[in-house]
Parts: sequence; C-alpha cells; structure tokens
Amino acid sequence: MQVDPHDTPVHLGFGLELQPSDLYRLKSHYLPLGKIGGKPAWLNPQHLPKPDDLLCKTCQKPCAFLAQITANSPQDPEYSFHRFLYFFVCRNPTCSKINDSSNLIALRCGLPRKNAFFGHDGPIDPDFDGDVEDPHFDAKIYAKCCAICGCSASKKCAKCQAVWYCSKEHQAIDWKIHKTTCCAPEIAENPAENEPKNPANPFVFKEFGMEIDQEYVPSNLFDGISDDEEDEEGEDSDDETEEDRQARMKEFNKFVQQNKDKNVDLTKEDLDQAVAEQKKDQDFEKFNRLVSLNPDQIIRYKRNGEPLKATSKSGNLAENQPEEIACCDLCGKPRRFELQLMPHLLSLIDVDAIGQSIDWASVYIYTCSATCQIPNDGYAKEFVTKQDFID
Ligand SMILES: [Zn+2]
Ligand SMILES: [Zn+2]
Ligand SMILES: [Zn+2]
Ligand SMILES: [Zn+2]
Repeated sequence: MQVDPHDTPVHLGFGLELQPSDLYRLKSHYLPLGKIGGKPAWLNPQHLPKPDDLLCKTCQKPCAFLAQITANSPQDPEYSFHRFLYFFVCRNPTCSKINDSSNLIALRCGLPRKNAFFGHDGPIDPDFDGDVEDPHFDAKIYAKCCAICGCSASKKCAKCQAVWYCSKEHQAIDWKIHKTTCCAPEIAENPAENEPKNPANPFVFKEFGMEIDQEYVPSNLFDGISDDEEDEEGEDSDDETEEDRQARMKEFNKFVQQNKDKNVDLTKEDLDQAVAEQKKDQDFEKFNRLVSLNPDQIIRYKRNGEPLKATSKSGNLAENQPEEIACCDLCGKPRRFELQLMPHLLSLIDVDAIGQSIDWASVYIYTCSATCQIPNDGYAKEFVTKQDFID
C-alpha cells in the first residue's frame, strides 16, 4: 500500500461517554465537534428542517437523530465557515433493509462566521456552574423544538400551551411524563425529577460526545491481500502459511467478537468456513484489518476521499459508479464522498441485535462538491447509500 505524503489521513470519530450533568456541553451554542444520540444540536437554530424532511421513506414516521459532526474546511466559502453534517435513522427495525438506505437521512448546514447565533470567534466558553440555568442560552433565537425528538415543532400541549411537539406520536410518548407536570410547573422544581436521564426518553438514542483522531495505518497492513499493489513484488498471496492463516483467524475472531450478537451461534467449523469464504472478499478483508486497528471507530471521515467498502459482495458501491451518486438537489453539481458510519455505532446506541434492529456494515454519505449555499442558511439533504454484510 503506497502512502502519499501529501495525502490527508482518514479521521476517525469515537463515542465519548459524558456525565449526565455534562451533556449540556453538546448543545448547539457551544458548537460541539460532534455528538451521538439525544437531540440534534442545530447549527442554525432558527430555520430548522421541516418535519416532512425527516420522515422515513418507508413508514412515513419521524426519524430519530443518530449523530452529527463538525465538518468545515479552510477551502469552504465564507457563507459556510461553520459546517455541520447530521444523520437520522428510522427506529423501526422493519424499515432497515439490505443495501437500502431509505431509512436514513443526511443533512448539511452552513453558517457564515458572522451570524445571528454566536460570536465572531465561535462559541462561548461552556464552563459555568452546571447547577444554574445556562446563561448562554437565548430562547428567543431558537425555533420551537419537539420535547421528545428535538426537531421542529408546530403543535403544543393544548392544556398548558408550554410544551411543543413535532407530531401526535411524540406527544403521546411524552404524555406519560408530562401529565404529572402539565399546568403544575412547581412539581418540576423537585430536583430528583430534574436529574437528566440518558437516554432522555424512549424515542432518542443514548447521548454521547465525540472525539476525533487521525488514523495511522502500518505500511504492511494489507500484505497478502491479492489485489494489493504490492503484489507486483512477486508475492504469492494464494500461498498462505499456517501462521498467516492463524493471524487471519485471530483478526476474524476479533471482528466476530465486535459483532457478537450477529454471530453468537457460530461453531468453530462455521467460523473456519466463514474465514475461507471471506478470504475471497478482499474488500471485507481490508475493511476488517482497518477496523481491527481501531475497533471502536464509529465514523471514518475523509472529504473527497475513497469510501472504505465493507464487502465486495454487496452491489452497492461495488463499482463506485459516480453516476449512481445523485447530484446536489440545490445546485446540480456532483456529490463527493465525505464520510461513512461504521457498525460500532450500532452497539454504542444499543441496536445491534441482528434481524431485530437497524443494521449496516457501513453507511456512506456523499455531499455537494461545491458546498453550495442553502436557502436561509438552513438544511440541505445529502446523498446516503448503505452496504450490508450479506451471504
Ligand atoms: Zn421507517
Ligand atoms: Zn418529535
Ligand atoms: Zn401540558
Ligand atoms: Zn450544491
């Protein structure tokens, strides 16, 4: 594997567990580097996506916020000095279909450096006494958000007129809790009731912060994979030694361990056979080796880079044909690869039971190559495709 010294590295995102009392640091006016679960931290808190833009294409119910990442570059135009990407998924497991991304949504938002929501030099220092009300939060500039999912809300509780919802479904979810405090705000003063829960309600995923790190790839990582460029050195990859085989087995076992719920019933023979099978899947082999270096990675980020295919057996991305990646809906320019969501994200948010939950080998996000300006500095949909591990 040749390493181009001018090539930027892949950046990896990792989940960061926070104390419930520190979760406020992930709110939008502190411009978090990224976050997972909970409610979205809207970069533009005024012009939110319309509820219709966040419906699952299969069941037409609101999707849940999955993750977001700060993704600006010095080359971006001034109107996109701040640039956030958002990912949503339908919670209904039956909407998760093999190699089909219709249960997933990606949004892009850009804001100029000088904007109505936070100062020229970025967010205010989030350090303040956590026991008091956030002094940096100005409710006046925020659109009404759903008490359950955090997305744009247009309905409110008819009794107290104080709590907002995006949909009847979410009002119904909230009623069990809200009926105890509706029209009786003094009950909510009870500190025990105010202790933040994580997840905050049955609809949102457990909330985490995010850490970003560069990926370091040892130069010999792909040795022995037969389509590797280094084959020109005359290495015969079919001639696998027992030592190589055992190393491969070890890596595969590690991978199986990471996906434990998916493969929990495999026998030793099954596994051996699976290893032999997977050996033919060179994309899987590369994926497996890279993931083994940082098994907790949840995001792989490289704008204009190459996606890391999870398998050569899935039709999606098999040829990575650019014509299959739809051009930008706003400006018509081609979209380019920017990042992928990794399988470990599923276990982090506790949805990794095979056949009974949302699943993917990788979710690939392609964004407008022109970083075009979005009307109202709001939110634009970007292109999502998905690969699954299939037989
Ligand atoms: Zn759905
Ligand atoms: Zn909602
Ligand atoms: Zn009420
Ligand atoms: Zn565009």
